[in-house]
Amino acid sequence: MNNNITSYLNKNKSRFIADLKRLVDIKSVREAPLPGKPFGEDPARALAEAEKLAAEHGFSVRNFDNYAGEITFGDAPDLMLLAHLDVVSEGDGWTKEPYRMTEESGRLYGRGTTDDKGPAVACLYALEAARELYGAPKTGVRLVLGCGEETGSEDMDYYFSQRETLQYTLSPDADYPLIHLEKGRFAPEFSQSIAVPGGLLEINGGATANIVPGKANALIAGSVPEQRGAILVEVSRRTGASFRVETENGNTRLYCEGVSAHAASPEKGVNANTALLTLLCEILPDGEIKRALSALLAMVPHGETDGAHCGVKMSDEVSGALTLNFGILQFDGHTLRGGFDLRCPVCAEQANVKGTVARRLAESGFAFAGDPAVTPAHYVPKDAPIVKEALRVYEDYTGQKGECLAIGGGTYVHGIEGGVAFGVEFPGTDYRIHGADEFAVTDELLLTAAMYAQIIKDLCY
Ligand SMILES: [Zn+2]
Repeated sequence: MNNNITSYLNKNKSRFIADLKRLVDIKSVREAPLPGKPFGEDPARALAEAEKLAAEHGFSVRNFDNYAGEITFGDAPDLMLLAHLDVVSEGDGWTKEPYRMTEESGRLYGRGTTDDKGPAVACLYALEAARELYGAPKTGVRLVLGCGEETGSEDMDYYFSQRETLQYTLSPDADYPLIHLEKGRFAPEFSQSIAVPGGLLEINGGATANIVPGKANALIAGSVPEQRGAILVEVSRRTGASFRVETENGNTRLYCEGVSAHAASPEKGVNANTALLTLLCEILPDGEIKRALSALLAMVPHGETDGAHCGVKMSDEVSGALTLNFGILQFDGHTLRGGFDLRCPVCAEQANVKGTVARRLAESGFAFAGDPAVTPAHYVPKDAPIVKEALRVYEDYTGQKGECLAIGGGTYVHGIEGGVAFGVEFPGTDYRIHGADEFAVTDELLLTAAMYAQIIKDLCY
């Protein structure tokens, strides 16, 4: 650990907090585009403030049409640091001010303190510490601050349409120690028309593919005979979901409750879509709709999350197993709609996942809505120099074991060649990003700044 770097940052702690507050106090949530402001007024305002800050710190700045800003240190940059200034809206349940940063017992509260304005300011201080302690670098650093990470990363599409990638890229927008593998994703939606719904009036299952639905319900014409009660109990026991029946204008509403989870780890949930399908296949009379529902359930039996019955079960050593979440299930009396979310290991690139799922769906009478794209996995080998350097610094500065993580979600560097996510959330703490009372730990942000400064010193001097 380098005591000069650490003490430089500690000396500048109150300035760091004041700078971060200037950014957190701007509600940089995406809005409708304005001329020259692709994400609306407020993300552009946050970027303008960050540029002002960077200029005050003595760095030159370039604005990429309010998609992103670039802060440059040194004449021949080969290291890119990537953070973002946009935030998700505050939502409910805050006991602090979301857009007026407050400090309380070593914590900084406010939307974006951890995701990702705190890390953005930590990177700026890393540049400053390197310059103040070691002077001009041999190569250099580009600190890129995007304005559209939370809404699909169009900011990076635009930025990289103007700029090449650099030799090394690090992004403090995920977890420590370091993420070197992000699975690929395939999230097709599909449907079929049902001519004779045979007593089923509607299904309201999950509406988004990337969540394991915790709730689903169906409306059946007329009343359900008494003896069906035993089936409810039996299916509940079999699926781990609970069911409730209500009469509604002479019809029967079946409510199913499972356990919601993120689609990247569907095994942690109890899928209400497949549990409800299991029940409907037991109680509906034979006919067209029952055939369609049974075929769907045969592709994704309740409790199965590895894609086996879709024919896509696979795994490899670096990325683990493919997962499949059955997130969307809707029926409006005419059209049965569904949606899957598959997280695909690196080895999926050799297998034809899309073709296999398309064929299985077609056998069951379903067709894709549009032409769903497959996002490939993002993978940087464990022995890449940037990975070894970041983990070495992490171990040195934290005293914790530095190891590579493989995840089912995607980070800001997904698709950026050679990019890895390094920080900023330390293991074991819930910083409530995207939730109420998001916070950062001041000393941890300074630690992040110190580790990034060390990496700059090691790679750029
Ligand atoms: Zn983020």
